[in-house]
Amino acid sequence: MQPQFFNVINDELRGSEKSHTVTNPRTEDELWACPVATNEDFEDAVAAAQKAFLTWGKSTVAERQTTLVKMAEVIKEHAGELADILSKETGKSAILAGIDVQASIAQCLYYSKTALEDEVQYEDEHQRVVATHVPLGVVAAIAPWNFPMILSNLKVVSSLITGNCVIVKPSPFTPYAVMKWCELSRGILPPGVFQVLNGGADLGALMTLHPGIAKISFTGTIATGKRVMAACAKTLKKVTLELAGNDACIVCPDADLDKTIPSVASGGFFNAGQVCVASKRIYVHESIYDEFLDRLVAEVEKSYSVQEDANAPSVFGPLDNKMQFDVVKGIIEDCRTNGYNIVKGGSTATASKTGKGFWLEPTIVSKPPEDSWLVKEEQFGPILPILSWSDEDDVIRRSNLANAGLGASVYSKDLAQAERIARRLESGSVWINQFERPNFGAFFGGMKDSGFGGEMGKQGLLSYSYTQALHFPK
Ligand code: NAD
Repeated sequence: MQPQFFNVINDELRGSEKSHTVTNPRTEDELWACPVATNEDFEDAVAAAQKAFLTWGKSTVAERQTTLVKMAEVIKEHAGELADILSKETGKSAILAGIDVQASIAQCLYYSKTALEDEVQYEDEHQRVVATHVPLGVVAAIAPWNFPMILSNLKVVSSLITGNCVIVKPSPFTPYAVMKWCELSRGILPPGVFQVLNGGADLGALMTLHPGIAKISFTGTIATGKRVMAACAKTLKKVTLELAGNDACIVCPDADLDKTIPSVASGGFFNAGQVCVASKRIYVHESIYDEFLDRLVAEVEKSYSVQEDANAPSVFGPLDNKMQFDVVKGIIEDCRTNGYNIVKGGSTATASKTGKGFWLEPTIVSKPPEDSWLVKEEQFGPILPILSWSDEDDVIRRSNLANAGLGASVYSKDLAQAERIARRLESGSVWINQFERPNFGAFFGGMKDSGFGGEMGKQGLLSYSYTQALHFPK
């Protein structure tokens, strides 16, 4: 039987006169009809959330923690079904889709044990000032397509544990798993506390303007993030922007290449490079450049080939959608037109044996100019520039682009040198001798153009709350 999908409003399942389908990027099969929320659906969801907030906003942390455990149980119970839907809508292998679902369970459980506590901020013989954390109201969570469950789940659980109600809008490229998850979660929370609406930029824009919404938590491109922030200014909404990164990866002359090469290959080609913190520009010390390049090409050939079977044990995959497929093909074409040294890959033809799907083979480009499209902009796909460096100050300056504020990595056996470089990189997270993997417990946010505020860890919950100072006399 074909699965069915619904907007979830006030715990009711709603269809719509308008629907769209998503193309499975692995096979180009058309998937299932997905209802597009109308303006009326959106207004109803906001009204239901506002009503629910009157009681949910007063719930205790212990009550919210219990519900997060139940949310984790529901995902666990339906993990196979959710991963299967997610694999089809994203084109991810079963392994990769499983990671998205399992990490969502872990995230629910992490936040079921992590909450903001009251804190004495100041005390003397006359007064005591206590900081407490008050929910904001209704949060709208606007998500991208690359990790649909994890990224929506993060916003949902952060909202819930802090006492907010949340309406999640997944990307129209990947709406299904998130809609099914919300449908399956009905009954755990009071109606109106957790709702889902499917729609595109129009619905997202409406959310950013609605006076009944207190906060937008947005993950996506820098360009859309700027639009979101401008729109939110009209009603002074709280805003968190998790935006693109153009992550630099610096390989020092003493790096342990046996460990560094597989790690850099994962950093660049895991999920075909469609990771916000993927390694997007590799800076290798000139003294080891040739050996590094040869060995990286061999590693990528061995471990990141196109495998059409979704059950093959692969963490490589197709581009998620035709739009992104065309963007990455444009970057490859630009490298070819400009005569850059493509040492692996370089074809813009669909790389699957069937000729179907948004597949591109992994591509490696040696020393393209610093002002090339591939180096200056986030590629978000399986094409990696390998650059060289010889002076520490110079490589740090080249790494610190305005759009490179999200993540970075440094490889060196000399941990003092690695830490010295890491502390000078203008990025929200820096990984040493490992590729970029966010950690539930660690605050995650971008510097400069890569974001505004952040999420994850205990600190991430502050952006889902007002901090109220209570001044007590003594
Ligand atoms: P996008 O900006 O095109 O869309 C993101 C979401 O915003 C979608 O749900 C979309 O429908 C919605 N939207 C579009 N226009 C809107 C508007 N005017 N107002 C409100 N909402 C609007 O991004 P994308 O292509 O889906 O995602 C890929 C990008 O996301 C990459 O640049 C990647 O680096 C970034 N990303 C960042 C993080 C992070 O945590 N920093 C994580 C994952 C992805």
